[in-house]
Amino acid sequence: MQDWKLRVTHLIDHAAREHGAREIVSRWADGSETRTNWAGIRHDALRMTQALRKLGIQPGDRIATLAMNHHRHLVSWYGAVGVGGILHTLNPRLFDDQLEYIVNHAEDRVMLFDRQWAPIVERMKARWPTVEHYICFDSSEPALHFEEWISGEDGQAEWHDGDERDPCMLCYTSGTTGNPKGVLYEHRSTMLHALSAISPPVFGMDCRSVMLPIVPMFHAASWGLPWAGAAAGAKFVYSAVNDGAVLCELMNREKVTCSAGVPTVWLALLQHVDAHNGGEIPPSLQTIVTGGSAMPRAMIERFMRAGRRVAHAWGMTETSPIGTTGAETWNWDELSFDEQVTVKAMQGRPPFGVEIRCVDLDDPEKVLPRDGVTAGALQVRGPWIVKRYFKAEKDAVVAGQWFDTGDVGVIHGDGTLQLTDRTKDVIKSGGEWISSVELENAAIGHPAVSEAAAIGVYHPKWDERPLLVVVKKPGMECNQEEIRSFLGGVVAKWWVPDAVVFVDEIPHTGTGKISKKDLRDQFRDFAWD
Ligand code: ADP
Repeated sequence: MQDWKLRVTHLIDHAAREHGAREIVSRWADGSETRTNWAGIRHDALRMTQALRKLGIQPGDRIATLAMNHHRHLVSWYGAVGVGGILHTLNPRLFDDQLEYIVNHAEDRVMLFDRQWAPIVERMKARWPTVEHYICFDSSEPALHFEEWISGEDGQAEWHDGDERDPCMLCYTSGTTGNPKGVLYEHRSTMLHALSAISPPVFGMDCRSVMLPIVPMFHAASWGLPWAGAAAGAKFVYSAVNDGAVLCELMNREKVTCSAGVPTVWLALLQHVDAHNGGEIPPSLQTIVTGGSAMPRAMIERFMRAGRRVAHAWGMTETSPIGTTGAETWNWDELSFDEQVTVKAMQGRPPFGVEIRCVDLDDPEKVLPRDGVTAGALQVRGPWIVKRYFKAEKDAVVAGQWFDTGDVGVIHGDGTLQLTDRTKDVIKSGGEWISSVELENAAIGHPAVSEAAAIGVYHPKWDERPLLVVVKKPGMECNQEEIRSFLGGVVAKWWVPDAVVFVDEIPHTGTGKISKKDLRDQFRDFAWD
């Protein structure tokens, strides 16, 4: 057979050749719109490759982006890898110290950014000594405008040709413990991931799909969609703002068929349709892809009742990020509606290419049975799973190439994964494990609770006991005893938190998840009665 290297530039070549006229729509923060297509993306990416070469950018150099979702950001992905460079997407919501650490660790040479993030650039410039060139995606202030930068190029160029194991992209974990860690994706791993992503059990995309990726391009590579979309030749609709009204308007007007985002954005969308649209979810929207944290059962049920397909996936930066997907089971049609919702509320099964197992939390040598009850540390392996973090001296995998995800879960007899916690968040009381996630899910069921977080706090007798931190719904009242007795009815008695603390706000990380680390710091010296 032929030697056809699995390099991601093949993806954009294919999209431009076979689906060249398929549109890429961008709605900018100021409400203006730009329309181009896959052929246009490829042409601009080639022009960017030429412009990068003129700046002296070499294969292997890191090219950073600090930007929301739009077609120029997409162009820059293919332009950066086209020159043989390594695309590095930065999360603008990180703290200054993290941004300083990450850019210096990555040694980024070029920084492409949105006008709205100019204040970050101005603030950080002096702390980013490796960055030589600043280019602005959507303004000629305060740096060279992207369009102007590539305007002198004609697109008559070749992509850099290298090995399929060359790196093409760098993403950092958000660093909820210690410094952020870089995961270096390769052309080959990214290509295999893209092929998996478009398969029916994962996103199920083809050239008739109209995808609106809400997940930002800086969050775990936008779940691989910019690569997968090119393989499928799908139409893309991008929005630089994730406001419910804007998203609904775009979905209706552009006849969006699938969209991907964390549960929080789906919540915002549902709140919008309830307040303004008589509760009607955009009719064209058939597939709801979600991940990043567990989608609450009630939300899944609502989408399914409206006849929509929910693809509830699990993954992380280290898994490119597809780990498991909420695919339908073989006996799907024989299940009752309630059973189907139950399947979707779990984290699904791995697509071909990913292997999962759970091992004992205290004895990682012991592989646990797939019995649906024994919880353990989740490990994964496969061609798009991290082996060693960027610049690390040691591999991040244990014997047999297994990567420990830091998540805790059970695997059911049919292979379905159900996450119960993260290793560092489980609460160990008197030698027994309590799932913080289950406590939080239970607490959310109380009508007055808007958000809840359970953490383990040192206890002289039990080692750790659960403390529940609660934000009340506006205008609602409840007290500790009401919450405790409510929980007593839904979880094991010894799981019921010994104390409930009410706060105005729970701290969140740069990717919008509850920051248990901050909470633990805040309540470290909590005095039990
Ligand atoms: P981090 O949150 O560490 O910044 P990621 O954005 O890569 O990094 O998030 C990965 C983590 O998000 C997983 O390890 C898991 O704990 C959580 N997660 C992802 N998808 C789901 C899901 N469907 N249900 C529950 N948790 C999830």
